[in-house]
Amino acid sequence: MNTTRRSVLGKLGVAAGIAAALPWNRSSGTEPARLDVKDPAAIALAYTENASLVDAKSHPGFVAGSNCDNCLQLQGAAGNIYRPCSLFPGKVVSVSGWCKGWTAEM
Ligand code: SF4
Repeated sequence: MNTTRRSVLGKLGVAAGIAAALPWNRSSGTEPARLDVKDPAAIALAYTENASLVDAKSHPGFVAGSNCDNCLQLQGAAGNIYRPCSLFPGKVVSVSGWCKGWTAEM
């Protein structure tokens, strides 16, 4: 068998391309889904992905400057734009978002 370095690298490149194309290898398949603002649970708590758009008149409990990033319910690693929230299991929320469940960090 005559195996050259170039032929091995070529086969590895083809294999890597195939593996990357497989549906179960895509990162979106392993990450929790983003909470849809139309999800019934999201609607019940008036979740929005942009806290700066919250109408304080409609939501008198809204505290200026509050958002998911400074909420006690937010979980996961700092630095991620979407992170888990204890009120919405199995989903991730935008750190720029807000909902009626907002609780000040201690
Ligand atoms: S409970 Fe807090 S972290 Fe969760 S969606 Fe509401 S404001 Fe964001």
